[in-house]
Amino acid sequence: MLIDTGQNPTDSRAILAAVRKLTSLPIRFVIDTEPHPDHTTGHFVFSPPAVVIAAEGAAESMRGRERDNPQRLQKLAAVSPEMRDALEGYRFIPPDIEYRQKMTLNVGERTFELMYLKGVHSEADTAVWLPKERVLFSAAGIVVNQINNLRPFVTIPDILAAAKTMKGLNPEHVIPGHGTPGTVKIFEDTERYYALLMDRVGRMVKEGTSLDQIKKDLRMPEYDHWAGKERFPTNVEAAYKAVRGN
Ligand SMILES: [Zn+2]
Repeated sequence: MLIDTGQNPTDSRAILAAVRKLTSLPIRFVIDTEPHPDHTTGHFVFSPPAVVIAAEGAAESMRGRERDNPQRLQKLAAVSPEMRDALEGYRFIPPDIEYRQKMTLNVGERTFELMYLKGVHSEADTAVWLPKERVLFSAAGIVVNQINNLRPFVTIPDILAAAKTMKGLNPEHVIPGHGTPGTVKIFEDTERYYALLMDRVGRMVKEGTSLDQIKKDLRMPEYDHWAGKERFPTNVEAAYKAVRGN
């Protein structure tokens, strides 16, 4: 069982090599925590024989991106000779199975509970929970030490609801879709960040400040050390919508 196929094809090859050091058994399933290329371009390294599983809407999202960016593979191959080599045999592989809301896989001694996370990052986000091991793969909607890109269909109430559900599982280890693995502190940090953001945006809205002005004036010095500052305006937009209840 493999959860996400690596950031890019060189990573996918490295993952396969690491698995081969552990076992000669086949990788039977790949679970996508989201359909974006930095999670799914490497499907071809594992599938077939692996069966690729994702939340409903993942294939459509993947196809849309291929259509919108037909030069993507050429650009990726041009990154380095290693990348070009790693792309050998590339094929576009959408998920074989799309589930709705929940799915449970029993593979060997392990149980994997897949949970659809609505409105947190992509069109089809999946958290994967191993109840016996208390390990949670929490996908990319909730990350720390970086500001996330909140697309127009992402809402802060949905992010907070997902954080609450995942925290409620009481995992021992939390492995987000990006960044360093951690604990439930990842969810607590996320809750604190959005609470402060909503509070500040809410005050400015009450004072009659426009969205454009809020984007110019709002400061979050507590998060100066977080990466991805260029994504902050998308966070302000989402907070503005949330505090106005639309
Ligand atoms: Zn993504």
